[in-house]
Amino acid sequence: MAAALALEPGRAAAERLWGDMVAAVGVGGVAGPGTFVFHETLYFGFCALWAAADLVPTLRRYKIQPRQAHEERQWSRKKQLRCLKLIIFNHVFIQFPMMMLFHYVADLVGFRIELPLPPMSRLLWQIPIFYVIEDFWFYWLHRFLHWPKIYPLIHKMHHEHTAPFGMAAEYAHPVETVFLGIGTMLGPILFADHMFTVWVWLVFRLWETVEDHSGFDFPWNPTNLIPFWAGSAHHDFHHKTFQGPYSSVFTWCDWLFGTDALFRRQQAELSESKDPNWPRFYPAAFRGAPSMEFLEARRSSRRIAGLEPEGVVSTKEE
Ligand SMILES: [Zn+2]
Ligand SMILES: [Zn+2]
Repeated sequence: MAAALALEPGRAAAERLWGDMVAAVGVGGVAGPGTFVFHETLYFGFCALWAAADLVPTLRRYKIQPRQAHEERQWSRKKQLRCLKLIIFNHVFIQFPMMMLFHYVADLVGFRIELPLPPMSRLLWQIPIFYVIEDFWFYWLHRFLHWPKIYPLIHKMHHEHTAPFGMAAEYAHPVETVFLGIGTMLGPILFADHMFTVWVWLVFRLWETVEDHSGFDFPWNPTNLIPFWAGSAHHDFHHKTFQGPYSSVFTWCDWLFGTDALFRRQQAELSESKDPNWPRFYPAAFRGAPSMEFLEARRSSRRIAGLEPEGVVSTKEE
């Protein structure tokens, strides 16, 4: 309730901006061209922020794969240009037509565009639900795309970057782009009734996917406090190994369907590592607990060394 009230002062400013924008592009221009321009601004804006972070030497210690990202020149100009070209192609020839089509879908499902805006407090439950829906859709789509018969045809393209960077987020086969777009819009179609909600959701969704591919994992990232938030380490591991985890937003699908064992083992090993080059602060309790077999093996070795009495089972992170 307090959080909902705190959002209300922003409502007047949001209504003023939204009203000006609708007056400028017209009601018919919001869903298609308006959303396209908004998406481009957000996507390339977020990519530019992460590209700038890549240029700051003191931030390099937060790079998840420092060696691959720099020594193997994942950031080479040629690679970036190729990435940029495909992304522009996808945005113009796949996403823009989908947004134009969404204009009619929005009409069909009763989305409003005009003022007033929906209550800001509604966003507090809608955005988490949109994330849950997108994550579930993405998990199963992603697993299907890794099916060996399908993988070389579509998803292989997205895996060209084994140490990803922000702009690689939407570097994907056009067919994959279509299905990812459907997953993004499922939540709003089911639970929203205003285009403004879609735009707010786009901010959250694009930030999340660009950050997941940024190659950085910051200890002070507020998302570290969100229970079961997967974060960049989760998806970066998938790019590095071509194996699970497959989720986009949360850790629970991979845990539930048993596709994150390798990742959890690596997290456990990292948390044990004495290597100062590994800035290890992963809140593993939130990102999927370390593998039980790893913990059991460690307990056994401690018992043998006489450090832990037999029968004592520690449940906390060690
Ligand atoms: Zn994949
Ligand atoms: Zn990816």
